[in-house]
Amino acid sequence: MSIEIRSPADGSVVGVVSDQQPSEVTEAVERLREQQTSWEDIGFAERARRLRRYRDWLLDNEDQLARILQSETGKPWAEATIEVPYAADVINYYSKHGQRFLTEETPRAHGPMTLTKRQRAVHRPYPVVGVITPWNFPVALSLMDAIPALLAGAAVVVKPSEFTPLAISAALAGWAEIGAPPVLTCLTGAGATGAALVDDVDYVQFTGSTRTGTAIATRAAERLIPCGLELGGKDPMLVLSDADLDRAANAAVWGGICNSGQMCTSVERIYVEAPVYEDFVNRVVERVRELRQGIDGTAGAGFTVDVGALANRAQAEIVRRHVDEAIQAGAKALVGGKPAGTGTFFEPTVLVDVDHTMACMREETFGPTLPIMKVADADEAVRLANDTPYGLSATVFTRDTEHGERIARRLEAGAVNVNDVFTNLFALPLPMAGWKQSGIGARNGGAHGIRKYCRTQAIVSSRVAPRAEPMWYPYRPLRGKLVRRLTRFVMARDLRRRLGLR
Ligand code: ADP
Repeated sequence: MSIEIRSPADGSVVGVVSDQQPSEVTEAVERLREQQTSWEDIGFAERARRLRRYRDWLLDNEDQLARILQSETGKPWAEATIEVPYAADVINYYSKHGQRFLTEETPRAHGPMTLTKRQRAVHRPYPVVGVITPWNFPVALSLMDAIPALLAGAAVVVKPSEFTPLAISAALAGWAEIGAPPVLTCLTGAGATGAALVDDVDYVQFTGSTRTGTAIATRAAERLIPCGLELGGKDPMLVLSDADLDRAANAAVWGGICNSGQMCTSVERIYVEAPVYEDFVNRVVERVRELRQGIDGTAGAGFTVDVGALANRAQAEIVRRHVDEAIQAGAKALVGGKPAGTGTFFEPTVLVDVDHTMACMREETFGPTLPIMKVADADEAVRLANDTPYGLSATVFTRDTEHGERIARRLEAGAVNVNDVFTNLFALPLPMAGWKQSGIGARNGGAHGIRKYCRTQAIVSSRVAPRAEPMWYPYRPLRGKLVRRLTRFVMARDLRRRLGLR
């Protein structure tokens, strides 16, 4: 069985992949399992060397990969060309610091029981990691999870979205091309292929909808395997009255509309303090009017349009519904508001007179829409920002950075950017984690980003090895009493108890 991949821009078929069945998934995972041990054994330095060669291959083939990516996603050229450099950054970061992050620890004895023991905490990989990814950033999201897992010594299967498997399949083919060991593979197919993968691997890292994430977490719990989930978001932007309105408006427009708003961390709703509301809205509308929509780059020329298509019809339908329902309930579209042209384009849209009864303020839209709401003050902005089941990230604009950071600490979100939008995605030493319904666990976060793919093993060796230890068989009254006195002497923290006087 196979799946046809269509361009969102014009509906044409741009590729075909096979719809891999559960038995093929099991076979692929078994093959990886066989290879993984030697991949772990070659050590970090050698794994990092392979990853650096792979980085060079990715950069050498960047244009070709971006062209395929553009054909299946409908992204503008500027956005199709950021995924490979992002992956290169992840390789550079973890190949530079990974050795240190994975160094085994040798803690000192904390009490008499282990005085003569050597203690080690050793970070050993989950043998096979499954990375299941969505259609919005098919290359970057797949690689950003696969890279630290590979460097940890795991073998990795990537299962991309059935809408966008082409560029990541081509990118993963590069792994074999550089002659690296067969510990990284791509399986194509729809939800059933992903579900089969969850049945076979030892760790699942998933990015996608909260609905699918919940199904994966349930299955992972049944199998008692860990999973990391990065799910949906409804990220708020708070604009305080002392904000630099030019920067805030530019950030809102790019942060909400970049990748056609199909970014889990995109600005999904905006709260503006009353004194600057009108000024801010005018600036946003002005900038949104200037956006150029379409597809560039396919014939070689790029960077000439700002906004591409939505990734598929189902997504276009959600965006249309959110906008239509809001307008029916009394909201106004100051610019945009409807589908555009052929394919799945939707006009960049600014909505005002919105409130929290509307889907556009409560559900994830994942489209090029900016609903803006006037608030009395920062307290109301914080209350509304937190009025959501999601908690991925948030943005605060104020000239008083200290105040912005104080507001950040009141927001229920895994990341807050002050006077910026989703810049935390590039801060690899910091965790990227969804709170509430936005996820479980975190990616990146320095050592955490690679150690999460490891099981920590405790190895305790006896440095002094008499025939038997005092606590071993046979139990005898004299030895037992002596051991009891000694342990009491060591454990108690005051003289009377040490001497057994009470
Ligand atoms: P969306 O609904 O936004 O299209 P999903 O969250 O459903 O995205 O899908 C993200 C990824 O999860 C895709 O690769 C998809 O094939 C996969 N997937 C869908 N259903 C399941 C499932 N039950 N188990 C594992 N993976 C799944």
